[in-house]
Amino acid sequence: MMTKTSAVRGRIAGSADIDIDYLFSRLSEGLEWQKDALCSQIDPEMWFPEDHGPSPAKRLCGECLVKQECLDYAIENNEMHGIWGGMTRKERRKLALKRQAEAS
Ligand code: SF4
Repeated sequence: MMTKTSAVRGRIAGSADIDIDYLFSRLSEGLEWQKDALCSQIDPEMWFPEDHGPSPAKRLCGECLVKQECLDYAIENNEMHGIWGGMTRKERRKLALKRQAEAS
């Protein structure tokens, strides 16, 4: 079965003289924590709720082994959508501002 990644690899490999494995390894640098993400084993739509009410995803994040890495990544990359590290965008923004204030 051809995955999306292998299709992209094939297309790029056939049209350019670049080291695709190196390129993909660089793109995934710092994202190794995602292999332990609890949300990768459960319906990912739960982490992108359409309403702003309580989400079961936030409770599941509390059980996730990589919660801190996930939260830090989302803040550092200004993730605009979904629940990351057990926090909504609004909660992450508040935490980011608090971290900035503490750092200065
Ligand atoms: S903490 Fe992050 S990686 Fe873990 S389940 Fe929640 S959203 Fe997924």
